[in-house]
Amino acid sequence: MIAKKKTKQLEPYKKKRDFTKTPEPKPKVKKSKTGHIFVVQKHNASHLHYDFRLEINGVLVSWAIPKGPSLDPSVKRLAIQTEDHPFDYAHFEGVIPEGYGAGTVMVWDTGTYENIKMHNGKLVPIEESLKNGQIEVFLNGKKLKGGFVLIRTNFGGKQTWLFKKIDDEYADARRNPVKTQDKSVLTNRTTAQIAKEDSKKESLMSKLVHKFSHEIENIKEKGLHKR
Ligand code: MN
Repeated sequence: MIAKKKTKQLEPYKKKRDFTKTPEPKPKVKKSKTGHIFVVQKHNASHLHYDFRLEINGVLVSWAIPKGPSLDPSVKRLAIQTEDHPFDYAHFEGVIPEGYGAGTVMVWDTGTYENIKMHNGKLVPIEESLKNGQIEVFLNGKKLKGGFVLIRTNFGGKQTWLFKKIDDEYADARRNPVKTQDKSVLTNRTTAQIAKEDSKKESLMSKLVHKFSHEIENIKEKGLHKR
C-alpha cells in the first residue's frame, strides 16, 4: 500500500519527462542511510533558480527558489513548491536537453537535515509540518548551516512558500554564498564547466549510437549477402 502511494507521488515527475531524452534519474522511491538528506541544486533553466529539496519518506519534496537561499534572517525568499523528485535526483548534475526544465543542473549544496519544528514542547513530524505549511529544519550542509523555515503563504495559491534563515548563531547577513560560493559541492565545477563537459559527453554518446547503428546496418547487409 505504502509503496503504491509513493510511486503515485512521483507520477507528476514522470509525466513531465521523456526518459529517452533526458539524463535525469528515473522515478524510483528510495531512502538514504540517514533518511533525511537535503540538496540545493542550481538550475540554469530559462529562469535561473535554486531547487531546494528535502528527503521525506523516500522522495525529495521540492521548492524552486528564484533568488536562492539567504543567510540574512531578515530576508524572505519566495519558494514555489514543485513536483516531488526521486531520491536519486540528489546527486544529479548535468544538462537537461530541450523540453521540460531544459538547462544545466549543479549540486550547489548537500548534507543532512534535522527536523526542529516544535509544538507544545513536542517535535512535530516533518510530514505533518509539510501538511501544515510550516517547516523548520536545521541544515548540515557545506555552505548552508543552521536553522531555516519554510512557510506556506496564502498568496497566489497553495504552491507559494517563503524560505527564511532562522536568527541563530549561523545567521550572517554579510555572507552571500549564492554569489561567493558558486561551484558544485560534488565536483567543484562551475555551471559553465558542467555545460561544456556534459554536452561533450552527450555528443560522444550520440556519435557512438550513430556509429553502432551503422555497424549494425553493415552486419545486417553482410548477413543478407551471405545468404
Ligand atoms: Mn528546477
